Amino acid sequence: MTDSPLFYQAGPALPEVSHAEGVSLWDTQGKEYLDGCSGAISCNLGHGRQDIRDAMLAQLDRVAFTYRTQFENAPALALGHALVGLTDGALDKVFFVSSGSEAVESALKLARQYFVATGAPQRRRFVSLRPSYHGSTLGALGVTGYRPLEAPFTTLTHASLKVPGPDFYRHRDADDDAHVDRVLAETRATIEAAGPESIIAFVLEPIGGASTGGRLLGERYLKGVRALCDEFGCLLILDEVLTGVGRTGTWFAYQHYGVTPDLLVTAKGLGAGYYPVGALLTRRDIVTEVMASGGFQHGHTYAGNPLACATGLAVIEAIRREGLLENVRARGEQLGTGLRALAERHAWVGHVRGLGLLWGVELVADPATREPFPAEQNRFAQITALAREEGLLVYPRRTLDGVAGDHFLVTPPLTITADEVETLLERLSRAMARFDRALA
Ligand code: PLP
Repeated sequence: MTDSPLFYQAGPALPEVSHAEGVSLWDTQGKEYLDGCSGAISCNLGHGRQDIRDAMLAQLDRVAFTYRTQFENAPALALGHALVGLTDGALDKVFFVSSGSEAVESALKLARQYFVATGAPQRRRFVSLRPSYHGSTLGALGVTGYRPLEAPFTTLTHASLKVPGPDFYRHRDADDDAHVDRVLAETRATIEAAGPESIIAFVLEPIGGASTGGRLLGERYLKGVRALCDEFGCLLILDEVLTGVGRTGTWFAYQHYGVTPDLLVTAKGLGAGYYPVGALLTRRDIVTEVMASGGFQHGHTYAGNPLACATGLAVIEAIRREGLLENVRARGEQLGTGLRALAERHAWVGHVRGLGLLWGVELVADPATREPFPAEQNRFAQITALAREEGLLVYPRRTLDGVAGDHFLVTPPLTITADEVETLLERLSRAMARFDRALA
């Protein structure tokens, strides 16, 4: 391989991709990989879709780009209406962006501007979870709780209060309800000590993604956070960049829990890997205040361009037409059952958790104490490499605030069939057996 001008992260040289179809990708050596993590939990419809291609080409033939302050464009209006419809109108205003980080930035800035506009400029900071991941730009990083990502930039990011969320695997409280109540009580105390009148919004992923390995927060906790926000007069921002647009078997994950956010952000699966498109959704009354104060002081050049929105629209139509939410629920059950069965054969699998087609598998050195493997052993990278050798892509990260713990996500495309789930589990099973031997 010749020297590459690209730099992303340290690690072994990667194979070069040749082509992709359905849930599989092939490298230039002819090796096939089952896409068990939908790229970065983004290729939600699988690869090589003719319908998405056709919709994009048709839009390219009409007009690819217009600037949002110069023209309305039909795909943006249609996608806006479609997204509002996915929330049953609970969130009725939409602001387009091109990535998850941009969507989070937009939410943070709109929430801040709302309080400036409504005479509460003392509201100047956010509350978010540790661990969490909300993006790599400085604002989104400011609410992210993941130490290695934060460490070089703490002088540049705004101060957000980081609080722990519930951990149903490691807690030592009497039961899950008692655990949630204690976590909420401690969060309340943290906010009270900091001054509730200084808080703009609580920001969280309704189900943890890469940062926690699919950790569920649950209805009791999410309802508790909603109640705290209402009591303290701050907003609730849900980050559904990863969980949105069908990943968990509902259009948005919050719909499992009967908790409605004030702002919601989504991206990844909206463009399904075919084109970058993300969105901030919020309520009309919030937007009205900000607009009356002189407008939203924010925007990105590619926001809401016709090609991006035509892609997003085609993605939503495909999910509807093919009944993919039902597929996610059925295949999610199958995948979860299969992962739990595999876990029983390997003592180092500490916890399997998830919903729909978002599953996390956490590795531990000692299942009794839930002690993680020593960080320097990089077990998350080892299991991922073994899976890769077996022709399966999974998404690895560190579980405990980025500094220890190991997990990988299994998040195949929403289109995966029952047979393909079995193939995924067989390949994972072979990788896990090899991991056993590596540990021995
Ligand atoms: N929020 C969550 C929950 C994410 O998982 C991610 C990406 O992984 C982001 C925000 C940032 O999205 P992007 O990488 O598109 O900027």
